[in-house]
Amino acid sequence: MNIHHGVAAWLAACEGGDVLGRGLVPTMGALHEGHGSLIRQCVAENTQSIVTIYVNPTQFENPDDLGNYPDSLQDDIHYLESLGVSDLILPQYKELYPFDFTLFVDESLDSKVLCGKNRTGHFKGVLSVVMKLINLTQARRVYFGKKDFQQYRLVSKMVEAYFMPTRIIGMDTVRDEHGLALSSRNRRLSDEQLVLARRMNVLLRDGSLSTEEIADQLNSWGFRVDYCEERWGRRFVAAFLGEVRLIDNVEMTP
Ligand code: AMP
Repeated sequence: MNIHHGVAAWLAACEGGDVLGRGLVPTMGALHEGHGSLIRQCVAENTQSIVTIYVNPTQFENPDDLGNYPDSLQDDIHYLESLGVSDLILPQYKELYPFDFTLFVDESLDSKVLCGKNRTGHFKGVLSVVMKLINLTQARRVYFGKKDFQQYRLVSKMVEAYFMPTRIIGMDTVRDEHGLALSSRNRRLSDEQLVLARRMNVLLRDGSLSTEEIADQLNSWGFRVDYCEERWGRRFVAAFLGEVRLIDNVEMTP
């Protein structure tokens, strides 16, 4: 696997390459099997499979959340090698944001609900960094997880609205044997919190419960619910367990 430390190193190495066979999986590292499913698909469908690891500061509203984000670069590198990834890019802030965050991409409708309601600048940071990474790599296929369905939806809209020559591929959520959506943040849960976290998806799938009833139940178990809502044919939840913010969503069955 080629490891590119920074944007300049990547641009120098990729010059003249065939962009039509390029696939990209943008990540923030601390990789797990959820990322693995996107990466496997990317490796299978492309002659050049690119992964980026970058904890993007512009999408974090809370500096503690950014500071606490898990870092396991050496393990991540071994994992990516085992999956047959061809290129890993490790961008640096100064290169990725040559004018700091004075130029950006924003959206004014779907980004203002759910995860964007209380974290008002979150998707502005996400869309901006994703556009930079797609433009930098010129990838023709880019893989996103439906665990972050709102992100997947917004990125798909951005690519369509700006006529970007790429396709966004949405992948189903990978879960543990109890149905808990895999997340880098799960590592920060205590054993007791993990037991509770695993109950969240069970409630979310229970069609006999309203979103209000789900929120009430979660709060009574010690979660601090940010939202529980139905939208776009899906049911969404975000809730804190201690300092850890968990999100999940499921398709609604008629
Ligand atoms: P992150 O590193 O959290 O930014 O995630 C990078 C990509 O992996 C995003 O497109 C996520 O939606 C996706 N992802 C993270 N966890 C999962 C999961 N459990 N199942 C499917 N995709 C996931």
